[in-house]
Amino acid sequence: MRINPAKCVACGNCTYVCPMEAIYIDPVLKRATINRDECVECYACFNGLSQEHLNPTMVRTVRNLFKMMRVRFEPEPDVCPTAAFEPDKLEWPRVVRRAFSDPRVPHESTGVEGRGTEEVKTNDVSGRVKVGEVGFTIEFGRPGVGARFYEIQKMSQTLARAGVSFEKKNPVTSLMSDVATGTIREDILNEKVMSAILEIKVPVERTEEVIRLVWDVEKQISTVVALGVGTRCDENGEDNVVAPILERLGYKLERAKTNIGLGRINAVQQKTDAKEVVHA
Ligand code: SF4
Ligand code: SF4
Repeated sequence: MRINPAKCVACGNCTYVCPMEAIYIDPVLKRATINRDECVECYACFNGLSQEHLNPTMVRTVRNLFKMMRVRFEPEPDVCPTAAFEPDKLEWPRVVRRAFSDPRVPHESTGVEGRGTEEVKTNDVSGRVKVGEVGFTIEFGRPGVGARFYEIQKMSQTLARAGVSFEKKNPVTSLMSDVATGTIREDILNEKVMSAILEIKVPVERTEEVIRLVWDVEKQISTVVALGVGTRCDENGEDNVVAPILERLGYKLERAKTNIGLGRINAVQQKTDAKEVVHA
Protein backbone atom coordinates (compact mmCIF):
# COMPACT_ATOMS: atom_id res chain seq x y z
CA MET A 1 0.00 0.00 0.00
CA ARG A 2 1.19 3.53 -0.70
CA ILE A 3 -0.05 7.01 0.01
CA ASN A 4 0.33 9.50 -2.80
CA PRO A 5 2.09 12.51 -1.19
CA ALA A 6 0.71 14.78 -3.91
CA LYS A 7 -2.81 13.98 -2.75
CA CYS A 8 -2.42 13.55 1.03
CA VAL A 9 -3.49 16.56 3.10
CA ALA A 10 -2.19 15.10 6.39
CA CYS A 11 -5.58 15.06 8.09
CA GLY A 12 -4.43 12.01 10.07
CA ASN A 13 -7.66 9.99 9.72
CA CYS A 14 -5.87 6.95 8.36
CA THR A 15 -3.44 6.69 11.26
CA TYR A 16 -6.30 5.41 13.44
CA VAL A 17 -7.51 2.66 11.10
CA CYS A 18 -4.22 0.85 10.51
CA PRO A 19 -4.21 -2.25 12.75
CA MET A 20 -0.42 -2.40 12.58
CA GLU A 21 0.14 1.26 13.41
CA ALA A 22 2.19 1.46 10.23
CA ILE A 23 0.87 4.89 9.14
CA TYR A 24 2.31 8.07 10.61
CA ILE A 25 2.43 11.72 9.70
CA ASP A 26 5.98 12.43 8.59
CA PRO A 27 6.98 15.63 10.39
CA VAL A 28 9.34 16.65 7.58
CA LEU A 29 7.16 15.78 4.58
CA LYS A 30 3.98 16.79 6.42
CA ARG A 31 2.24 13.90 4.73
CA ALA A 32 0.91 10.54 5.93
CA THR A 33 3.51 7.88 5.26
CA ILE A 34 3.43 4.10 5.46
CA ASN A 35 6.21 2.16 7.16
CA ARG A 36 6.55 -0.46 4.44
CA ASP A 37 8.34 -2.93 6.66
CA GLU A 38 5.49 -2.95 9.19
CA CYS A 39 2.62 -2.80 6.67
CA VAL A 40 1.05 -6.24 6.21
CA GLU A 41 -1.01 -5.24 3.14
CA CYS A 42 -4.32 -5.87 4.93
CA TYR A 43 -6.04 -3.07 2.95
CA ALA A 44 -7.94 -1.89 6.06
CA CYS A 45 -6.93 1.68 5.22
CA PHE A 46 -7.95 1.48 1.57
CA ASN A 47 -11.23 -0.39 2.20
CA GLY A 48 -12.07 1.01 5.62
CA LEU A 49 -12.05 4.70 4.77
CA SER A 50 -14.51 6.27 2.36
CA GLN A 51 -12.57 7.82 -0.46
CA GLU A 52 -13.68 11.31 -1.34
CA HIS A 53 -12.11 12.92 -4.33
CA LEU A 54 -11.69 16.50 -3.16
CA ASN A 55 -9.00 18.58 -4.79
CA PRO A 56 -5.92 18.39 -2.49
CA THR A 57 -4.87 21.98 -3.20
CA MET A 58 -8.34 23.21 -2.35
CA VAL A 59 -8.44 21.17 0.90
CA ARG A 60 -4.98 22.42 1.95
CA THR A 61 -5.98 26.02 1.22
CA VAL A 62 -9.19 25.71 3.23
CA ARG A 63 -7.33 24.08 6.11
CA ASN A 64 -4.72 26.85 6.12
CA LEU A 65 -7.37 29.56 5.97
CA PHE A 66 -9.24 28.01 8.87
CA LYS A 67 -5.98 27.68 10.78
CA MET A 68 -5.31 31.38 10.38
CA MET A 69 -8.73 32.03 11.89
CA ARG A 70 -7.86 29.61 14.69
CA VAL A 71 -10.59 27.24 13.55
CA ARG A 72 -9.93 23.58 12.85
CA PHE A 73 -11.20 22.13 9.61
CA GLU A 74 -11.26 18.35 9.79
CA PRO A 75 -12.91 15.90 7.41
CA GLU A 76 -15.29 13.22 8.74
CA PRO A 77 -13.21 10.69 10.70
CA ASP A 78 -13.98 7.76 8.38
CA VAL A 79 -12.92 9.50 5.21
CA CYS A 80 -9.77 10.01 3.21
CA PRO A 81 -10.81 13.34 1.70
CA THR A 82 -8.52 13.16 -1.30
CA ALA A 83 -8.46 9.41 -2.08
CA ALA A 84 -4.72 9.36 -1.48
CA PHE A 85 -4.33 5.59 -1.02
CA GLU A 86 -2.86 3.71 -3.95
CA PRO A 87 -2.58 -0.08 -3.67
CA ASP A 88 0.66 -1.48 -5.06
CA LYS A 89 0.71 -4.21 -7.63
CA LEU A 90 2.10 -6.77 -5.22
CA GLU A 91 4.91 -9.01 -6.38
CA TRP A 92 6.39 -12.08 -4.77
CA PRO A 93 7.26 -12.31 -1.88
CA ARG A 94 5.30 -9.27 -0.70
CA VAL A 95 2.05 -10.74 -2.02
CA VAL A 96 2.27 -13.28 0.81
CA ARG A 97 1.60 -10.47 3.29
CA ARG A 98 -1.80 -9.78 1.78
CA ALA A 99 -2.77 -13.44 1.54
CA PHE A 100 -2.34 -13.81 5.30
CA SER A 101 -3.69 -10.40 6.30
CA ASP A 102 -6.71 -9.56 4.16
CA PRO A 103 -9.45 -12.17 4.77
CA ARG A 104 -11.22 -11.20 1.59
CA VAL A 105 -8.59 -12.40 -0.84
CA PRO A 106 -8.10 -16.03 -1.85
CA HIS A 107 -4.82 -17.67 -0.95
CA GLU A 108 -3.60 -17.54 -4.55
CA SER A 109 0.02 -17.29 -3.46
CA THR A 110 -0.18 -20.48 -1.46
CA GLY A 111 -2.49 -22.51 -3.64
CA VAL A 112 -5.06 -22.89 -0.83
CA GLU A 113 -8.49 -21.31 -1.27
CA GLY A 114 -10.05 -18.73 1.07
CA ARG A 115 -8.47 -17.79 4.38
CA GLY A 116 -6.60 -21.00 4.00
CA THR A 117 -7.62 -23.44 6.66
CA GLU A 118 -10.72 -25.17 7.96
CA GLU A 119 -8.92 -26.32 11.10
CA VAL A 120 -11.21 -28.66 13.06
CA LYS A 121 -14.35 -26.63 12.36
CA THR A 122 -15.55 -29.10 9.75
CA ASN A 123 -13.97 -32.18 11.24
CA ASP A 124 -17.16 -34.23 11.14
CA VAL A 125 -17.04 -33.91 7.37
CA SER A 126 -13.31 -33.85 6.73
CA GLY A 127 -12.44 -36.50 9.31
CA ARG A 128 -9.06 -34.86 9.80
CA VAL A 129 -8.80 -35.55 13.53
CA LYS A 130 -9.72 -39.15 14.26
CA VAL A 131 -10.62 -40.89 17.51
CA GLY A 132 -7.44 -41.16 19.59
CA GLU A 133 -5.90 -38.08 17.99
CA VAL A 134 -5.59 -34.43 18.97
CA GLY A 135 -5.49 -31.61 16.44
CA PHE A 136 -3.59 -28.46 17.26
CA THR A 137 -3.80 -25.05 15.65
CA ILE A 138 -0.88 -22.83 16.57
CA GLU A 139 -1.71 -19.27 15.59
CA PHE A 140 0.93 -16.56 15.40
CA GLY A 141 0.21 -12.84 15.47
CA ARG A 142 -2.79 -10.61 15.99
CA PRO A 143 -3.78 -7.10 14.83
CA GLY A 144 -1.25 -4.72 16.33
CA VAL A 145 1.39 -7.42 16.62
CA GLY A 146 1.67 -9.48 13.44
CA ALA A 147 4.20 -12.23 12.88
CA ARG A 148 7.18 -12.87 10.63
CA PHE A 149 7.81 -16.21 9.01
CA TYR A 150 11.20 -16.66 10.65
CA GLU A 151 9.35 -16.72 13.98
CA ILE A 152 6.86 -19.28 12.67
CA GLN A 153 9.75 -21.35 11.33
CA LYS A 154 11.26 -21.58 14.78
CA MET A 155 8.11 -23.40 15.88
CA SER A 156 7.73 -25.53 12.75
CA GLN A 157 11.34 -26.74 12.87
CA THR A 158 11.04 -27.60 16.57
CA LEU A 159 7.87 -29.59 15.95
CA ALA A 160 9.41 -31.32 12.93
CA ARG A 161 12.44 -32.35 15.00
CA ALA A 162 9.98 -33.96 17.43
CA GLY A 163 8.59 -36.02 14.55
CA VAL A 164 5.33 -34.08 14.22
CA SER A 165 3.93 -33.76 10.70
CA PHE A 166 2.01 -30.80 9.30
CA GLU A 167 -1.47 -30.64 7.78
CA LYS A 168 -1.05 -30.65 4.00
CA LYS A 169 -4.03 -28.39 3.21
CA ASN A 170 -2.67 -25.45 5.13
CA PRO A 171 -1.16 -22.27 3.67
CA VAL A 172 1.92 -22.25 5.90
CA THR A 173 2.68 -25.88 5.03
CA SER A 174 2.43 -25.01 1.34
CA LEU A 175 5.13 -22.36 1.88
CA MET A 176 7.62 -24.84 3.32
CA SER A 177 10.61 -25.70 1.18
CA ASP A 178 11.10 -28.87 3.23
CA VAL A 179 8.02 -30.11 5.08
CA ALA A 180 9.95 -32.93 6.79
CA THR A 181 12.15 -30.42 8.62
CA GLY A 182 9.54 -27.62 8.91
CA THR A 183 11.75 -25.30 6.85
CA ILE A 184 9.94 -22.35 5.28
CA ARG A 185 11.02 -20.83 1.94
CA GLU A 186 13.95 -18.56 2.58
CA ASP A 187 12.63 -15.72 0.41
CA ILE A 188 9.61 -15.14 2.67
CA LEU A 189 11.22 -15.53 6.09
CA ASN A 190 11.26 -11.78 6.78
CA GLU A 191 7.76 -11.14 5.44
CA LYS A 192 5.34 -9.84 8.06
CA VAL A 193 1.69 -10.94 8.17
CA MET A 194 -1.27 -10.21 10.43
CA SER A 195 -1.55 -13.84 11.51
CA ALA A 196 -0.78 -17.34 10.31
CA ILE A 197 -1.63 -20.79 11.57
CA LEU A 198 0.36 -24.02 11.77
CA GLU A 199 -1.79 -27.15 11.94
CA ILE A 200 -0.69 -30.49 13.29
CA LYS A 201 -2.20 -33.60 14.80
CA VAL A 202 -0.69 -36.19 17.10
CA PRO A 203 -1.83 -39.24 19.06
CA VAL A 204 -3.53 -38.27 22.33
CA GLU A 205 -0.54 -39.55 24.34
CA ARG A 206 1.62 -36.78 22.87
CA THR A 207 -0.69 -33.94 23.91
CA GLU A 208 1.36 -32.75 26.88
CA GLU A 209 4.66 -33.10 25.02
CA VAL A 210 3.45 -30.91 22.15
CA ILE A 211 2.02 -28.26 24.46
CA ARG A 212 5.29 -28.07 26.37
CA LEU A 213 7.21 -27.69 23.09
CA VAL A 214 4.91 -24.82 22.07
CA TRP A 215 5.37 -23.14 25.45
CA ASP A 216 9.12 -23.43 25.11
CA VAL A 217 9.33 -21.90 21.61
CA GLU A 218 6.78 -19.22 22.46
CA LYS A 219 9.25 -17.77 24.96
CA GLN A 220 11.89 -17.45 22.25
CA ILE A 221 9.86 -15.44 19.72
CA SER A 222 8.51 -11.94 19.90
CA THR A 223 4.98 -12.47 18.58
CA VAL A 224 1.92 -13.79 20.40
CA VAL A 225 0.92 -17.44 20.07
CA ALA A 226 -2.61 -18.80 20.51
CA LEU A 227 -2.95 -22.55 20.88
CA GLY A 228 -6.15 -24.29 19.76
CA VAL A 229 -6.82 -27.90 20.70
CA GLY A 230 -9.42 -29.98 18.89
CA THR A 231 -10.56 -33.48 19.73
CA ARG A 232 -13.48 -35.81 19.12
CA CYS A 233 -16.19 -36.21 21.70
CA ASP A 234 -17.40 -39.65 22.76
CA GLU A 235 -20.89 -40.96 22.02
CA ASN A 236 -22.29 -38.88 24.91
CA GLY A 237 -20.82 -35.67 23.54
CA GLU A 238 -18.16 -35.57 26.23
CA ASP A 239 -14.38 -35.43 26.17
CA ASN A 240 -12.86 -37.28 29.10
CA VAL A 241 -9.51 -37.89 27.45
CA VAL A 242 -7.91 -34.61 26.42
CA ALA A 243 -9.70 -32.28 28.85
CA PRO A 244 -8.08 -33.84 31.95
CA ILE A 245 -4.63 -33.40 30.38
CA LEU A 246 -5.30 -29.72 29.66
CA GLU A 247 -6.64 -29.15 33.16
CA ARG A 248 -3.57 -30.78 34.68
CA LEU A 249 -1.46 -28.34 32.64
CA GLY A 250 -3.32 -25.41 34.18
CA TYR A 251 -5.93 -24.59 31.55
CA LYS A 252 -9.37 -23.70 32.87
CA LEU A 253 -11.78 -25.18 30.37
CA GLU A 254 -15.15 -23.81 29.39
CA ARG A 255 -17.25 -25.43 26.73
CA ALA A 256 -17.34 -22.66 24.19
CA LYS A 257 -18.18 -24.31 20.92
CA THR A 258 -19.12 -27.79 19.81
CA ASN A 259 -19.12 -28.58 16.12
CA ILE A 260 -21.79 -31.13 15.34
CA GLY A 261 -22.07 -33.09 12.15
CA LEU A 262 -24.37 -31.05 9.99
CA GLY A 263 -22.55 -32.38 6.96
CA ARG A 264 -21.89 -35.99 6.13
CA ILE A 265 -18.75 -38.03 5.79
CA ASN A 266 -17.77 -37.92 2.14
CA ALA A 267 -18.07 -41.02 -0.02
CA VAL A 268 -14.32 -41.68 -0.12
CA GLN A 269 -14.14 -41.67 3.66
CA GLN A 270 -17.13 -44.01 3.91
CA LYS A 271 -15.49 -46.45 1.53
CA THR A 272 -12.26 -46.30 3.50
CA ASP A 273 -14.12 -46.92 6.75
CA ALA A 274 -15.97 -49.84 5.19
CA LYS A 275 -12.70 -51.39 4.05
CA GLU A 276 -11.21 -51.02 7.50
CA VAL A 277 -14.21 -52.84 8.98
CA VAL A 278 -13.93 -55.70 6.48
CA HIS A 279 -10.21 -56.14 7.11
CA ALA A 280 -10.76 -56.08 10.84
S1 SF4 B 1 -6.72 10.08 5.38
FE1 SF4 B 1 -5.90 10.53 3.33
S2 SF4 B 1 -5.49 12.72 3.35
FE2 SF4 B 1 -5.78 12.14 5.48
S3 SF4 B 1 -3.69 11.71 6.22
FE3 SF4 B 1 -4.50 9.75 5.49
S4 SF4 B 1 -3.87 9.60 3.36
FE4 SF4 B 1 -3.59 11.73 3.98
S1 SF4 C 1 -2.51 -1.98 4.24
FE1 SF4 C 1 -3.04 -2.45 6.40
S2 SF4 C 1 -1.08 -2.52 7.46
FE2 SF4 C 1 -0.72 -1.47 5.48
S3 SF4 C 1 -0.93 0.69 5.94
FE3 SF4 C 1 -2.95 -0.01 5.24
S4 SF4 C 1 -4.04 -0.57 7.14
FE4 SF4 C 1 -1.85 -0.42 7.65
